[in-house]
Amino acid sequence: MAKKPQIVVLGAGYGGMMAVSQLQKKMGSGEAHITLISKHKYHYQTTWLHEPAAGTMKPDDARIEIEKVLNSNRSSFVQGTVSSIDKEAKKVTLQDGQVFDYDYLVIAVGAKAETFGVEGVFDHSYHKWTIDGVREVKDHIEFQFSKYRNESIHHDEDLTFVVAGAGFTGIEFIGELSERVPKLCEFYDVPREKVKMYVIEAAPTALPGFDPELVEYAMNLLEHRGVEFKINTPISEVKDSLVILKDGEEIPASTIVWATGVRGNPLIEEAGFEAMRGRVKVDPDLRAPGEESVFIIGDCSLMINEETERPFPPTAQIAMQQGSAVAENILSLIKGGSASAFKPEILGTLASLGGKEAMGTVNVSFLKGKKLYGRSAYFMKHMSDNRYLMKLGGIGLVLTKGRNPF
Ligand code: NAD
Repeated sequence: MAKKPQIVVLGAGYGGMMAVSQLQKKMGSGEAHITLISKHKYHYQTTWLHEPAAGTMKPDDARIEIEKVLNSNRSSFVQGTVSSIDKEAKKVTLQDGQVFDYDYLVIAVGAKAETFGVEGVFDHSYHKWTIDGVREVKDHIEFQFSKYRNESIHHDEDLTFVVAGAGFTGIEFIGELSERVPKLCEFYDVPREKVKMYVIEAAPTALPGFDPELVEYAMNLLEHRGVEFKINTPISEVKDSLVILKDGEEIPASTIVWATGVRGNPLIEEAGFEAMRGRVKVDPDLRAPGEESVFIIGDCSLMINEETERPFPPTAQIAMQQGSAVAENILSLIKGGSASAFKPEILGTLASLGGKEAMGTVNVSFLKGKKLYGRSAYFMKHMSDNRYLMKLGGIGLVLTKGRNPF
């Protein structure tokens, strides 16, 4: 009897989870052996993490136990951290020494913070957008309020919160925080005017590349809640409780959240793939150039949008679609067919702004290209979150982890 093909998927983010769930669904029982390897025993919703970071959602609500959504009869889950990938020998080694052979490998190991060479980021700012990372942010924020209150000499920097980067992550986080600040002030008996919130952005606008009317809506709303924007103002260095701007201004702040973008997991470059900021420019069928059996998806992959001639942003939406496409391609290759080119379908881009506020564009049916603001954007954003849960784990997952769109 022929040996079953071994499919190994690295990383249980949006791309990896979707690849495994689609392989399980589409592959006949026993047709291949599927192994998912990931650091944690849970998958987490990276696009929800601004909420637990600001303390407006329990961290547990943003994560899903992998074994609850994957079918253990159809795939194996291994909790572990990949330490190396040997493309020639077709082997993956974990930090604990376990070795996995593969016939097909899907690399979906996500991203880490990009600093663009700014010194002090890793030592003095919160930069890990993970469940463990955002728990620490939330605890630190609450501690700053209690510390300020309990000290006989108050230090203004204790209640100064700086967000570096007015991209999606920075805006969504400050949206949640600015919504929660009045409640924190009330709880900790702190006067509201003592809290300072800054968003510092290097580009000439917040949310670069976004529709100017939507940017204006977001900025007005956040400014109304007390957020101060410093636009066209790159950060040049971060020190302990101090942000130094390129124009020489210094902002003392005990809480610095770094959100200036991401780069692919270092594993990519360590494995010898040619990469730009840790992202591999993949072939149209999502394989790494020159590789027959290695697919790279999600934040570690780079694809050029031919309409704009710029890379597609590393979003959850594209990672999920890539996960499904990779499952189809592997299935076809196993059956002796060929792999097809992948084309992302952008269904919309929506950013939450805290509370029941959001804004963005949607690209589906009668709403094609429409700008949405406030409650309607909030509704669509949560419906799209629920659509993902439905695809991943069916109605059971929507009922346990789903979002209330109203
Ligand atoms: P981003 O690249 O979208 O934004 C980072 C911002 O930081 C940019 O505006 C950049 O000009 C700015 N910046 C860079 N260096 C700086 C410096 N030294 N000082 C000040 N500002 C600086 O990155 P992100 O927000 O981390 O998001 C990463 C990716 O994830 C993006 O592709 C984003 O679209 C995606 N994302 C999507 C959603 C969503 O769809 N809801 C949510 C979060 C993130």
